[in-house]
Amino acid sequence: MMRQYELVERVKRYNPRADEDLLNRAYVYAMKAHGSQKRASGDPYFSHPLEVAAILTELRVDDETIAAAMLHDTIEDTETTRTDIESRFGADIATLVEGLTKIKKLDLVSKKAAQAENLRKMLLAVAEDARVLLVKLADRLHNMRTLHYVPPDKRARIAEETLEIYAPLAGRIGMQEMREELEDICFHVLMPDAATMVMQRLDAFRSRSGPIIAFIENDLREKLAANGIQGDVKGREKRPYSIWRKMERKSVSFEQLPDILGFRVMVGNIPDCYRVLGIVHNAWPFVPGRFKDYISTPKQNDYRSIHTTVVGPKHQRVELQIRTQAMDEIAEYGIAAHALYKDQTVAERDAVLGKEARAYNWLRRTIETLAEGDNPEEFLEHTKLELFHDQVFCFTPKGLLITLPRGASPIDFAYAVHTDVGNHAVGCRINGRNAPLTSELRNGDEVEILTSEAQVPPPAWESLVVTGKARSSIRRATREAVRKQFAGLGRRIIERAFERMGKPQTEEKLASVVPRLARPSLEDVYAAVGRGELHSGDVVKAVFPDFKEETPKTAAGPNGAGWFGVQGADEVKFKVPGQEGAGGALPIRGLSDDLPVRFAPGGGPVPGERIVGILTSGEGITIYPIQSPSLSAFDEEPWRWLDVRWDVEEGERRRYPARLVVSVINEPGSLAEVARVMAETDANIDNIEMRAKTKDFREMLFDIEVWNIKHLTTIMTDLKAKPMIANVERVLG
Ligand code: MN
Repeated sequence: MMRQYELVERVKRYNPRADEDLLNRAYVYAMKAHGSQKRASGDPYFSHPLEVAAILTELRVDDETIAAAMLHDTIEDTETTRTDIESRFGADIATLVEGLTKIKKLDLVSKKAAQAENLRKMLLAVAEDARVLLVKLADRLHNMRTLHYVPPDKRARIAEETLEIYAPLAGRIGMQEMREELEDICFHVLMPDAATMVMQRLDAFRSRSGPIIAFIENDLREKLAANGIQGDVKGREKRPYSIWRKMERKSVSFEQLPDILGFRVMVGNIPDCYRVLGIVHNAWPFVPGRFKDYISTPKQNDYRSIHTTVVGPKHQRVELQIRTQAMDEIAEYGIAAHALYKDQTVAERDAVLGKEARAYNWLRRTIETLAEGDNPEEFLEHTKLELFHDQVFCFTPKGLLITLPRGASPIDFAYAVHTDVGNHAVGCRINGRNAPLTSELRNGDEVEILTSEAQVPPPAWESLVVTGKARSSIRRATREAVRKQFAGLGRRIIERAFERMGKPQTEEKLASVVPRLARPSLEDVYAAVGRGELHSGDVVKAVFPDFKEETPKTAAGPNGAGWFGVQGADEVKFKVPGQEGAGGALPIRGLSDDLPVRFAPGGGPVPGERIVGILTSGEGITIYPIQSPSLSAFDEEPWRWLDVRWDVEEGERRRYPARLVVSVINEPGSLAEVARVMAETDANIDNIEMRAKTKDFREMLFDIEVWNIKHLTTIMTDLKAKPMIANVERVLG
């Protein structure tokens, strides 16, 4: 087991500013916490977190991560709590250890959905602090290295999970060494026959070609020296699992494999990389189609290198990677090297970016590359990470990860953040730019939702969202908004009913009769009256049981003089039964009113003309022009009639629909003439329909939009003034 000072020395070697005291305290604390616990191997349990920390020193991570690695199993396996860790080591390390505890039980579950959920959990933990992933991978690597101590029946399951999730994850964030080691261990556990076969073939290859690696290494070194290039050369055989996977993918035999041997040439600068390429291509024939320049076009995970394959000195295909030392560092340690130790120390980087920004940027890039890498097929081919294919990963401005199904919009995002945010969303910014709420979100998008307290989600959103949460929340909010509208209407109707009857009305009295009206709450009573399901007279009677409702049915009915006075006379107000004057009329602002209002279909009223409201069960109020012929249908139901008036402000620029039938003399240019008048008078034509046609006349129906009754009258007058127009009539719904 590694000694305390050895570990500290290892860290100090690459990070001279590391907090020695922190490392020592973490070492001692973890050792004591695990006490006499043992591993399956019989070793003291503490050897495991210590080895994990040691692996991480190879990745050259910061001292906090090393400390967290030593502590990573304490909350899960000992009496230690988060609070203990926080008081001793600070909030950052406590968060790291807690994050690792949360994902400890990330088990391979047979169900895809459950697995996706586990992955999501892990990503969330990683999102809090990206260093969690580094410790988790190191933890897994050590567990895999010691997997032979685990009972055989458990090995396969752990290996499967590693091969499907952790190995690709390591590779994707650029930690190729770790990926390959994980894969090879899994290969031997899961496919022992295939692994044995590949190993045997590799042996045969070695005995056939002798010490070929050393031979080529020397050859390359001599060539570099001869050209005055400073550099280093490393050769190796490809890993068994990678060989096997290529055999599978390309359906080739071991003998046909293009490149069992791989060499890496590391030089001081980029021009030297291209010089080496020239030297190599000069010395040996290169294999066409195998050349890739990742220096001019780096991979998404920052991998940079030149790749080529040549036919080497012993007629073996040899793969070459040519890159600078700095590029090699990133290729070896992945984003760990890049993000944590590029040119600065952690402390310097934190000072510039802030700790959060560092972890967050790192994760953000990781997740982007996860799902949108340069070659997702290759990456996903043998991995369960294809689960990510159906998902997009987005972020709040604070860096909180929000996972959504593909096709999700900012509306879905808003509801995923919080129902209130969704309900009040009015706009959004994606990556700092204003964008429609209906945009399709993409991986890595940073989404900021703009809200307004006054906003209610439009019902149409329901068909635009893809998440169940958003859909049900919108439905609930819409239902609630509609119910509120009906309740508001019902409340006014009831108030006026009491007024009309000359009876005093209070909320308390009404509340006391709610059970008698068989409604769960007063709000429901209001809504029922507003919806026309409950008659306001019945509510009055419930409060005053001896009350006899007057039904002042006049001979003329609601449309007659007894009800509305002389039609057409400006000063005449219309009334509802039993009510004098129009002082208490419901103000109507149009379709965006806070009341459930709609205009009579097929020729509604326009501001300035007198209107009446008809309470329609389940629909609220329908507004008719007072001359509408449809109104006679409601003559027998006086309680459905409502006194309404326009509440349109002077100068309000808003158009209302009206319908005209225009008869024109059938001659060329007549339609154009009508259209010209419409244009001149600023009528907005919505629709034109040919209604009837005789030899002499055409009858056309126009749906137009006008400002008010004055505007409509002007249009009609101007039309009538044209010689070719025989007649103009308004259609009323
Ligand atoms: Mn562990």
